[in-house]
Amino acid sequence: MRTKLDHLVNSALATGSAVPAFTCYDFTTALAVVSAAEEARLGVILLVAPKTASTANGLRLITALRGLADSASVPVSVQLDHASDLNVILEAVAAGADAVLADGSSKPLKDNIHLVREVRAALDAAGHAGVVIEAELGGLAGDEDRAFGSSTPDAGASVPGLTDPEQVAGFVEQTGAQLLAVAVGNVHGKYTGEPNIRWDVLQDVAARTEVPLVLHGASGIPASELAKASGMQVGKVNFNTELRTGILAALESETAAYRADGENLQGLLARWNGSAASFAGATLELLSA
Ligand SMILES: [Zn+2]
Repeated sequence: MRTKLDHLVNSALATGSAVPAFTCYDFTTALAVVSAAEEARLGVILLVAPKTASTANGLRLITALRGLADSASVPVSVQLDHASDLNVILEAVAAGADAVLADGSSKPLKDNIHLVREVRAALDAAGHAGVVIEAELGGLAGDEDRAFGSSTPDAGASVPGLTDPEQVAGFVEQTGAQLLAVAVGNVHGKYTGEPNIRWDVLQDVAARTEVPLVLHGASGIPASELAKASGMQVGKVNFNTELRTGILAALESETAAYRADGENLQGLLARWNGSAASFAGATLELLSA
């Protein structure tokens, strides 16, 4: 069933849980994620990358995901991830996205605030006042769509790009952000070496705002660490790389056999689905209290 992102995440936090969000570049993966959520009887978030949303077929995918969310037996929200282009945002919402990450995190603070306010105003003016906005404060290293290694900061090092707790309350107030993505040592793509999540910074950020926090780049963060997140107001955790890794590994090892089996694409897609569903299912369980 369709649900508002902030409601889904706040409800999870109230029970000590966080909601995983999975990037879906295609419908097979989305079907797997939603069926895993239905199996677990837990809500889930389907993320659409801005590169996907900036194509005509990507907008059709969003509409298809919207239909999938509506027909699910558990709460599902469809969110446009990491967008800064107003046209892409408005088109994605018109196509069916009900939440957006208005991402001005690479800009100076005042421009970041300006972008989020501009997105809110444009959505409201277009009749989409119900669309939920996540904003991001602090810069995340790495590439959202491709898994190159990203170096993580050494313990104790001062790192440009970490969310500055001092800026949090003012940023949330001025932007009206309903969720806040933070940079606390998490990176997009693969971690080189051990991830060094600055739980001290996260805790400081959590003490300064009421809105749920969002952890991006969770692929590669150990399960024991992720399980701590909801205790620090992290209500949403984004996964992308690990899902792709599993799907690609399944395709690489299985393609020849399914080719030999009468070019059995249906069978191969079932393996794709199985890989994504098992990762999504394990992650849903991990983050739920
Ligand atoms: Zn992200």
